[in-house]
This record gives sequence, structure tokens and C-alpha cells, in this order.
Amino acid sequence: MKKKYSIYSLVKNSLSDNQNWKKMWRNPEPRKFYDVIIVGGGGHGLGTAYYLAKEHGLKNIAVIEKGWLGGGNTGRNTTIIRSNYLWDESAHLYEHSLKLWENLSAELNYNIMFSQRGVLNLAHNEHDVKEIRRRVSANKLNGIDSEWVDPNQIKKLVPIMNTENCRYPVLGASYQPRAGVARHDAVAWGYAMRADELGVDIIQNCEVKKIRTAKGKVQGVETSKGFIRSNRVGVVASGHTSVLAATAGIKLPLQSKALQALVSEPIKPVINTVVMSNAVHAYVSQSDKGELVIGAGTDGYNSYTQRGGYNIIEDTIRAIVELYPIFGKMKMLRQWGGIVDITPDASPILSKCEVEGLYFNCGWGTGGFKATPGSANVFAHTIAKNKAHKINAPFSVDRFVSGRLVDEHGAAAVAH
Ligand SMILES: Cc1cc2nc3c(=O)[nH]c(=O)nc-3n(C[C@H](O)[C@H](O)[C@H](O)COP(=O)(O)OP(=O)(O)OC[C@H]3O[C@@H](n4cnc5c(N)ncnc54)[C@H](O)[C@@H]3O)c2cc1C
Repeated sequence: MKKKYSIYSLVKNSLSDNQNWKKMWRNPEPRKFYDVIIVGGGGHGLGTAYYLAKEHGLKNIAVIEKGWLGGGNTGRNTTIIRSNYLWDESAHLYEHSLKLWENLSAELNYNIMFSQRGVLNLAHNEHDVKEIRRRVSANKLNGIDSEWVDPNQIKKLVPIMNTENCRYPVLGASYQPRAGVARHDAVAWGYAMRADELGVDIIQNCEVKKIRTAKGKVQGVETSKGFIRSNRVGVVASGHTSVLAATAGIKLPLQSKALQALVSEPIKPVINTVVMSNAVHAYVSQSDKGELVIGAGTDGYNSYTQRGGYNIIEDTIRAIVELYPIFGKMKMLRQWGGIVDITPDASPILSKCEVEGLYFNCGWGTGGFKATPGSANVFAHTIAKNKAHKINAPFSVDRFVSGRLVDEHGAAAVAH
């Protein structure tokens, strides 16, 4: 390994003002042909390349990224990781991911700061209580650590929460102790480093303009650096996936919308778990720097402007201040948006398609960060074997024809 992190390397490099660290990955010019091309240098794309090289022995792989690594939704999300989804299909997928998260820092020899501080999903009315209790039972049947907690238990976990004197009182919550957060950029960088070591070419600042196909087979991609040939192309471009699919004549059932988040000025530790609320539409955790990391909802219309409407911020902050009056006078530091790709059943697409050699990993909507290692792992399998892994078989694009949907609108903590 070129870039091994250890106590020894940290001390040695600190003695030379950290000026002698090797580059984390190469910056190669694209070759004319690759065995596999992955479009999109977010966590899912980089992870896919890593598992293709590591677990399937493929060496001639490129990841093509139009901007910089992790500059898409991977570096824009609020980093919540959990696996407490309703349906068996989703539970298997997200739990596969959570298990990989638990060992990811060691696997990548890079600290992704995975912190299992638990997640609460609040219930504010009788319907929420029933829906969340049903989900807790389903989670338990799937071996997922999920429990129902009452307002007293919530108060112990989050003493600053106002559970009673508000328009939507807190009647209880689901709690998943193994859930948590991770440092999102580090996930992209960790996968990039290890994929690069395994020979993957990571090509940044190179936009894929068109997926070229002929006679029902993929031929390669036309990019801002010229045409690159390949018989296998995996598209992992989140909010821009449907645009790329259209260049190959494929219409995917995706809508692209802005989803936004914001962080406050840093304060001392006040909240040591993640709290999400579907009903009042706000979620919050506290970063290691002390900032409150606040997530909002999607805009009500499709767009590609990575910003998000101000009305959404107002609604979110109103809900946050009602739930946590103590935050009422805090200043918000910065706000941003990302373009998320939403399917009709709020579940992802991890699938082959009618064009031979063309694969899609998309439709993660507002919740794909948590799935990064699991999705990348099974997508690599799908590309390498040209066959779905049993975990992602239910997430084929065909389900929108057959009607076998995996409807997770209730568990996707940000309604869309
Ligand atoms: C504000 C916000 C908060 C969120 N919070 C959470 C959360 O708390 N928990 C959670 O699980 N999920 C969350 N998500 C969702 C999550 O971020 C995404 O589902 C996930 O990061 C998607 O990863 P990805 O690798 O598929 O996509 P991305 O990281 O977006 O990577 C796709 C890449 O493709 C590149 N690309 C696009 N078009 C082209 C092209 N033509 N040529 C070359 N490259 C191209 C882009 O530049 C981008 O880097 C949130 C998203 C947002 C926006």
C-alpha cells in the first residue's frame, strides 16, 4: 500500500510539517478502452470501482467524474446512516450496508469517522405511532436493532427536546442504536485511494456527454476528453442519471429535485444522537465540530439548481425551533443543496437495462448515503457477473412495469 495510515506514518509526517504525504490518487489521462467505465465519482461510483477491483479481480476500470470527487450528493448530505426500513427487500439492502459501515474504516485503512450514536424517528400523531410501531416490528423480524421508545425515554436521550408544548407533540419514536453518522467526504476519498491502489483510473473534470450504443449494446462514452470505448458502463450519477440515460434512448422513472441542508454556528455538545421527524419535516444531529447539521425537505418541483427554495428553510427552521426552543437564537452558518433523483416508490434502482452492458445505480432520492458501501458492493457484483446479486434483484428497473414496487415512502424520513 502506498498511503498507509498508522501511528508511525502520522508522527513521521508531522515532523516534516505534513509536506511529504504522497498524493491520495493519481490523475491519469483516460485510456482508449476500459473493461468497465463507471460514470460518477461519488461514494457509490467509487465504491463500485473498488469492489469490482477487489472482489471481482477486474483491473482495467475507470471512474469518470465531471467535477471533483464527492462534489455531488456524497459531499452534500447530512450523513445519516440507518437500516430501519419497512420492507424485507430494503431491510436486507440497508442492513448489508450498515454491516459494511461497521468495518469500513479498517477495510479502507482510513478514518471515515463512523459514529454509531443512534437515530430516533419521531411519531407526532396516532397514525405515526401505528406506522412506526409496525416498522419496528418489521425491523425486528429482519434482525435489525430497532425499538419503540416512549416520550420519557426520548427525554433521557435528548433532554433539550420539547415533547409536549408544541403543535405536534412527540408521542414516541423508533430508536435504532446502531445507526449514526459518518464523515461523507472521507467515504469518497477512502474508496478513491484504495481503488486507485488497485489500478482504477480516476478521471476528474471529464464530463460524459453521451452513452454510445449500437445494435442494443453499449459501445462506450463520449466525454469532454474524447470517446472512450467499453462494453460495460455503470451509470451512478444521482440527480443527472436520467439525463445520461436519455442519451442512450432510455427513459428512467426518475424525478430530479433540489434537497437542501444547513449548518449552524458551532456550539458545545447538546445532542448526542440523530433525531428525524417526517411529520414536521426536520432532522438534526451535531457534528464533531459542534455545528447543528439540519436537513430540510425537497423542493416541490423538478430542477437542477443546486440550491433549494427559501420557503423550505423557513418551514424546517420553524419546526426545529418548536422541537428545540433552546436553538431559537442560534445563527445559521451556511446552506446548500444537491440534486436528488427520486423514483415513484422511494426505493433505488440497481439494475441492468434493455441495452446490453449498461447498468444503472440511481434513484436513491433523499437517502442514499447510508447505502453507499452496500449499494456499491452489490452493484459491482451485478456488473461483474452481468446478473443481479440476490440483495439487489428486487431493485430492478422492471418493477415499474411488473408493479412489484418496494414502497418506502413512509420510511424515507424526508417525504417527497
Ligand atoms: C442535502 C442532502 C442531504 C442528504 N442527507 C442524507 C442523509 O442524511 N442520509 C442519507 O442516507 N442520504 C442523504 N442524502 C442522499 C445522498 O446524499 C445520496 O443519495 C448519495 O450521496 C448518492 O451518492 P452517489 O454516489 O450515487 O451520487 P453523487 O455523490 O451525487 O455522485 C454522482 C456523481 O456523478 C457526477 N456526474 C453527474 N453527471 C455526470 C456526467 N455527465 N459525467 C460525469 N460525471 C457526472 C456528479 O458530478 C457526481 O459527483 C442527502 C442528499 C442531499 C442533497
